[in-house]
Amino acid sequence: MFTRPFRPSKISLSFERLLFAKQPMTTRAPLMSKRPKRGVPEGLWQRCPGCGESIYWKEAEKLLNVCPKCEYHFYVSAQERIRHVLDEGTFEEWDTQLRTADPLEFVDASKSYKERMAIEQKKCGLTDAALTGGGMIRARRVAFGVTDSQFIMGSMGSVVGERLVRLIERATDESLALIIISGSGGGARMHEGILSLMQMAKVSAALARYDRAGGLFISVLTNPTMGGVAASFASLGDLVYAEPKALVGFAGPRTIKATIRLELPKGFQTSEFLLEHGFVDRIVSRSRLKSEIARAIDYCGK
Ligand SMILES: [Zn+2]
Repeated sequence: MFTRPFRPSKISLSFERLLFAKQPMTTRAPLMSKRPKRGVPEGLWQRCPGCGESIYWKEAEKLLNVCPKCEYHFYVSAQERIRHVLDEGTFEEWDTQLRTADPLEFVDASKSYKERMAIEQKKCGLTDAALTGGGMIRARRVAFGVTDSQFIMGSMGSVVGERLVRLIERATDESLALIIISGSGGGARMHEGILSLMQMAKVSAALARYDRAGGLFISVLTNPTMGGVAASFASLGDLVYAEPKALVGFAGPRTIKATIRLELPKGFQTSEFLLEHGFVDRIVSRSRLKSEIARAIDYCGK
């Protein structure tokens, strides 16, 4: 429930409002790919992409959607993340009223942005790719955000950025520890053009204020965390945790390979590779995440 009076974030820039003025534009963008969705598998038995074994899905579900044979971490939705990490029944959603204004009246080759949003909302049960609010982690009150990689690839548009900024500002005002779990294969949302790109700076600026106020931000990277999400808030944690074997990076490995024309190192852009190179502080399996976060909050005295 939204419990505070409506107010725009302090970092909503005036030129953003200007840009929100209707600008009819039809852009032909590449058709969204027709490859199968990397979502929750259906059926009793599933082939695990990690080890290739057939696994009994009920067993994986008990382990929070983790393969019992190789610990491959399957996709989980934003709503499931809340169940995995927060104490039961403590999540209170904030800023539910925000919706994109579709400022570019964007149409890609097959659908308008409005139509695509309606489909994604129905599919994911979310109004946009980020869910934010307050909750408890082992009885510690936190500000909590999560992005869902299934909602237009977890891409960051104006609503995702604004929700995250309001979350961070409220965490700053109320001296709450801040936890954001990222899942984004898309980075900035092309349907909103420059307004999506500017969310990177906007969220980062809010985090800088939170940091100056002495807040503790734990960023959790999940498979995949790419593009503008990886290049802004997801990499700015005081502590950066990552799920095992998650793909984390800016441009995808194929793009990089085609650009630099060199063989990429083994394990490039995996959590393990980034831990070795200092971009990730700790790899935390899903079953230990809640305890690890609670421990870090206590250790940092938040
Ligand atoms: Zn497996």
